[in-house]
Amino acid sequence: MHLWAIWAGYVGTIFPRALNHLETGRYVNEKREDRICTLCNTNNVETIEHFLFDCSKYDTQRLPFVQKAQNVIDDWENLNQTECLSKLFNTMPTALGKYVKDIFLCRRNNLYK
Ligand SMILES: [Zn+2]
Repeated sequence: MHLWAIWAGYVGTIFPRALNHLETGRYVNEKREDRICTLCNTNNVETIEHFLFDCSKYDTQRLPFVQKAQNVIDDWENLNQTECLSKLFNTMPTALGKYVKDIFLCRRNNLYK
């Protein structure tokens, strides 16, 4: 399953409004440069992958979460991001939910302050 499908099924149920905000560019054809993440200085488009796994803005929240995931999920280091999300969803949904909520709040507080 594509990461986007997993994400939409998961987050759409708890954060319907958030889902509308992130990655809106896919639906309204926003220009690439208008979708650049403004919360870090990597100049990357703010995709779901960037938001969940890469953006340095959320390192504080991500570090303890990833450490926990490495303890629970075998072979974590060898999984691609889609596989990681799928495993997280199946094995530690509560921790995943908390992490997603935390970084969404962080994103919102930084974007709309
Ligand atoms: Zn970023």
